[in-house]
Amino acid sequence: MRGFTYLSKALHSHSTYSRLLVLCSISTGGLLVYAESNVESGKQVVERNQSEPEKKKKRIVVLGTGWAGTSLLKDLDISSYDVKVVSPRNYFAFTPLLPSITCGTVEPRSIVEPVRNIIKKRSGKIHFWEAECLKIDLENNKVFCRSGINDNLAGHNDFSLQYDYLVIAVGAQVNTFNTPGVMEHCHFLKEVEDAQRIRRTVIDCFEKAVIPGQSEEERRINLHFVIVGGGPTGVEFASELYDFVHEDLVKIYPSVKDFVKITLIQSGDHILNTFDERISSFAEQKFQRDGIEVLTGCRVNNVSEHFIKMKVKSTGEHVEVPYGMVVWSTGVGTRPFVKDFMEQVGQEKRRILATDEWLRVKGCSNVYALGDCASVDQRKVMEDISAIFKAADKDDSGTLTIEEFRDVLDDIIIRYPQVDLYLKSKHLLKATDLFRDSEGNEREVDIEGFKSALSQVDSQMKSLPATAQVAAQQGTYLARCFNRWDQCQSNPEGPRRFRGSGHHEFLPFRYRHLGQFAPLGGEQAAAELPGDWVSMGHSTQWLWYSVYASKQVSWRTRYLVVSDWVRRYIFGRDSSRI
Ligand code: FAD
Ligand code: MG
Repeated sequence: MRGFTYLSKALHSHSTYSRLLVLCSISTGGLLVYAESNVESGKQVVERNQSEPEKKKKRIVVLGTGWAGTSLLKDLDISSYDVKVVSPRNYFAFTPLLPSITCGTVEPRSIVEPVRNIIKKRSGKIHFWEAECLKIDLENNKVFCRSGINDNLAGHNDFSLQYDYLVIAVGAQVNTFNTPGVMEHCHFLKEVEDAQRIRRTVIDCFEKAVIPGQSEEERRINLHFVIVGGGPTGVEFASELYDFVHEDLVKIYPSVKDFVKITLIQSGDHILNTFDERISSFAEQKFQRDGIEVLTGCRVNNVSEHFIKMKVKSTGEHVEVPYGMVVWSTGVGTRPFVKDFMEQVGQEKRRILATDEWLRVKGCSNVYALGDCASVDQRKVMEDISAIFKAADKDDSGTLTIEEFRDVLDDIIIRYPQVDLYLKSKHLLKATDLFRDSEGNEREVDIEGFKSALSQVDSQMKSLPATAQVAAQQGTYLARCFNRWDQCQSNPEGPRRFRGSGHHEFLPFRYRHLGQFAPLGGEQAAAELPGDWVSMGHSTQWLWYSVYASKQVSWRTRYLVVSDWVRRYIFGRDSSRI
């Protein structure tokens, strides 16, 4: 007992990083050394001098308690700000394990952490309201919200909040691409409730298929599971379902086991097309061996109560596929109130909210947007090329020497990270090599030469993927900016302003890719890790277990997830329709 108390104290009083080390040693026997996003390390709390009179705290309103919102709340210096949070869910959900909920490999409560637990850890000084933001009033710095809690209870549901800074971290909603019938007949996999509904429907399909008096054809239709979208979510769900069927359901529904079919429909030429080619062909081969049908190059254009209609791109043919259950897992769409806000800030023509590299919504000075609801609009070098040249040409000679260029290079690379990517793609060790002729001699360049040396640089710009990794890093980044606000006003840390004078207050947001996983079922997974390292098979599945256990937001959920995996291993998955 004493040992337990000691361990419990140690876990509460040490940083996440040391906890991770303990976890790795305990739960995986030190198997894994993997970059944990160390939520504490980015914390740069500026100590307030006790003798200073306390100034009125600025109000930050945070919309959303997903990956971006939660990582911001974990690191934000609550002694400097009055923080208010609004979200229709009073919990954080660990979305990468949602596919495991669909088949009961992991239970729903194991992957969620109550927001109020997170607040408790921050001395309870954050205000949280379970409500949905309906409108942002940019002119008056106000948000209008509505609680969705049962109308029978006393009191109003509507309220508004005033802010000095607004952080929009509301994620995205499903994107049906306006395909008729999708909303009415398909399942989605974005929320915990979606995953629970899928789990019940899978069991419904099996229970219906064993009811007496059906033809073999009807049983086959009921047990035809279709997944639209061959991205990581679709592939992971197909793998989970395959495992559920073959490890558990065939034993309890033996009479219909031969009628089960899983089909994955993908409009592109390959599944997992954001992954390395080796991974997508490994996944396609594995699915082929398992009997999961992969239909590539097919676009679904209608879903009715009993059929999916799709067009085979290569032949132009239209095909009707009968189904028992469809899961729609393609793309992300914008929430209606975000669309309305985009109109207010002149971004109505865009698909998604645009921010600058400091995550500030373009066209606003005090509104930030993070995660799936926004994308960083990286500034192009060519847009600023004349200003950069002018700033670099210190002696106003109309030409740049290598030394002049070298003086501004660090600022250029921080402000325009595509320059660094370009140099790497060209295998150039130094940017100053752009200032050498074909024989390697140094040359001075005029504005035209400068433009042509950097003309290809912007081709390296890539938009960030809509992932938890990006959202969490953005939350941590923004917390750090808020925490260093006063300090950076007087002592800016950012690169020089090429248009204008002085420096930017903060370093721009820079994404650090830690790799990505694709679990493929049968205790096999594929991983793409930094440095072009690709790994596939059973050992990668162990890496996946270790990483996902370590990435849990609390020791409680970590314990629950690991114990669910052990339970599944010993007793199999539960097929009750609850
Ligand atoms: P979310 O995490 O979606 O959070 C949005 C928050 O906003 C929620 O709390 C929501 O309740 C709240 N909200 C919604 N509307 C309102 C409103 N009107 N007002 C106030 N609050 C609102 N990414 C990875 O990196 N790795 C993976 O393995 C991975 N697997 C995934 C598997 C699945 C099944 C899914 C669906 C996604 C997966 N992702 C993965 C992507 C990842 O979940 C998202 O990129 C991430 O959740 C984005 O974080 P976010 O904070 O922007 O949004
Ligand atoms: Mg000069």
